[in-house]
Amino acid sequence: MRIQHHGAINGVTGSCHQLHIDNHNSVLIDCGLFQGTEADTENEDHLAINFDISTVKALIVTHCHIDHVGRIPYLLAAGFKGPIYATTATAALLPLVIEDALKVGVTRNQSIIRACIKLLKNQLVPVEYRKWQSLELAISSNSANNQSKAKIKFQMAGHILGSAYVEVDLNVESEKSTTRPNNHRVVFSGDLGAPYAPLLPAPKSPYRADTLIIESTYGDKNHQNRKARTKNLQTIIEKAVTDNGVVLIPAFSIGRTQELLYELEKIIHQHKKQAKHKNSFWHNIDIIVDSPMAAKFTEQYQNFKDLWDKEAKSELSVGRHPLSFEQLYTVNAHQEHLQTVEYLAKRNKPAIVIAASGMCSGGRIVNYLKQFLHDKTADILFVGYQAQGTLGRDIQKYAPKPHEEKSEGKSKACGYVYIDGKKITIKANTHTISGYSAHADQQGLINFVKRMRIKPKHILIVHGDEQAKASLKQHYQELLPDALIEIGK
Ligand SMILES: [Zn+2]
Ligand SMILES: [Zn+2]
Repeated sequence: MRIQHHGAINGVTGSCHQLHIDNHNSVLIDCGLFQGTEADTENEDHLAINFDISTVKALIVTHCHIDHVGRIPYLLAAGFKGPIYATTATAALLPLVIEDALKVGVTRNQSIIRACIKLLKNQLVPVEYRKWQSLELAISSNSANNQSKAKIKFQMAGHILGSAYVEVDLNVESEKSTTRPNNHRVVFSGDLGAPYAPLLPAPKSPYRADTLIIESTYGDKNHQNRKARTKNLQTIIEKAVTDNGVVLIPAFSIGRTQELLYELEKIIHQHKKQAKHKNSFWHNIDIIVDSPMAAKFTEQYQNFKDLWDKEAKSELSVGRHPLSFEQLYTVNAHQEHLQTVEYLAKRNKPAIVIAASGMCSGGRIVNYLKQFLHDKTADILFVGYQAQGTLGRDIQKYAPKPHEEKSEGKSKACGYVYIDGKKITIKANTHTISGYSAHADQQGLINFVKRMRIKPKHILIVHGDEQAKASLKQHYQELLPDALIEIGK
């Protein structure tokens, strides 16, 4: 058994790991796109499948974030014909994600897109959580009882809808030896969710892992707790709407948008329940999701209510609809989107708008920013990480800071950003709430290993910055002094 990494080594994107079972058989775990500064856009190679796929018998998908699935069209183009295993929910989301990625980044040619999606759907095999699925392997020698065996099982990862970590059970017989086959359990973490993320249950550790390949996005950080985070969201919005301005929240369509809706419904519900809040603006503020993709994903979140956590299910059982409540409006058509921007600019009434992309690097949020960045009644609320080089990061960086606003006597120093070549002065207020994270923090990553009954003898750390990986390595080594802890190369 040998593991090769084809991405998510020097950063968090491009996840793709190859598990070589024997000389004739291997499987891929994820096939993601490199993004942001990790994508070498000068060089088309970052898209290519630049490794031998002749032994690849299957692709196993942990979840449908683009940095885990975005290279699938290239894998298909390279001639991969094997099954693509994914959880039932991921299998439902994946064609939507790939279709959108092709449209945005590759081609507008409908017949190429259709052909690709058809191939994908033909090869997709949905697998239930917690159910073993055998892999079909090539016979590795003449003797039938000398055959490697492998099976996989998905477990809930709590990261986004359908997300999973994967257990791979190997029964590998060396081609020369005559001894009994050796049973070995390899676990690929995929992306692990944060324990107190809204909507989805926290991941439970596997019973056993001999070899563990684990992400380390927040290997060196711990998150703000959930109560503080929700309170923060509420307080910022309450302050923001006193001048009747709009609140803009850039958010990714899968996961973050649904988490926000869930939290907002909770705040609204609490205000409706308590008499002391009977005149609160929360009773009738419009919450607008302006993203057809987000609307499609929200629909899928509702189709898979059985995957929600206890709290969310108990809300359903008392007749609440955390993702489709009265004050929620969805904007679909582009024309309707333009009209909404215009309408909100004219009226003197607050509204909360959630639109993609999460880092403002494209999507409908950009039109809102063009309209409202120079409006001092508007508020922009960042709830996710803004990567270097994105419009979101620039707004965070150049927006006037609250303490600068207060400094008396001095006029407010206004920063600016360029959108589509046009200079826009930032007069809107900006806020950042940390703690909305789809990833387990350092303690979560440590607990994932600590709570295993049979702990790994070998850990490979991937999917993180240098510092995050190094810090996590140290903690794992303290926890398991005899184990081999490595940073994936
Ligand atoms: Zn992810
Ligand atoms: Zn990831």
